[in-house]
Amino acid sequence: MSFDSLGLSAPILDAVKKQGYDKPSPIQEKAIPLVLTGKDVMAAAQTGTGKTAGFTLPLLEILSKGPRPGPNKIRALVLTPTRELAAQVAESVDLYGKNLSLTSTVVYGGVKINPQMMRLRRGVDILVATPGRLMDLYNQNAVRFDQVEVLILDEADRMLDMGFIHDIRKIISNMPKERQNLMFSATFSDPIRNLAKTIVNDPVEISV
Ligand code: AMP
Repeated sequence: MSFDSLGLSAPILDAVKKQGYDKPSPIQEKAIPLVLTGKDVMAAAQTGTGKTAGFTLPLLEILSKGPRPGPNKIRALVLTPTRELAAQVAESVDLYGKNLSLTSTVVYGGVKINPQMMRLRRGVDILVATPGRLMDLYNQNAVRFDQVEVLILDEADRMLDMGFIHDIRKIISNMPKERQNLMFSATFSDPIRNLAKTIVNDPVEISV
């Protein structure tokens, strides 16, 4: 299996090739074509499996078509439990999306909120965020969720463990019902499945 047969277009494949990856990892082989069909996905995958590219590559492909975001609006949201993970995901988005004209930014707590508010004013295609800071931005009207096409929960189990469930539910309640949802988690325990029930719609489950 090579990256060429997964349904990704040349600008994205070119960025992947520059990374020197030989072939897609098992999670990438399963997730990329599936996400491109537009279906909701629940994926059980640990860190180190290549899961970030597994959702970032098809996300970029999907967003490369479609309307630009309006002011303060976003087209895709990636929620992560920690700043470190948010920064890593944002770096991957930049790297794999460098041949596209999509915009992205990352927001997390512990740093000034004003520059984040300024950046969101023009709207961004892809926002990577931790839930607490995102709620603060939402409460200050710096970001709107009514143009969201794709929602990704990365390391959903850790977000639950860290007590973000209330913020996550509030954020999602302001999104359009019709959107694509991807949930990545190391495990699919009962609490995760309960959360999933209210978020994903008829998901395809994959694991590696
Ligand atoms: P992740 O599990 O998403 O945190 O990725 C773990 C590491 O694997 C990252 O440093 C990626 O750059 C790298 N990686 C992702 N996809 C591949 C691939 N297909 N082949 C080799 N390395 C990869």
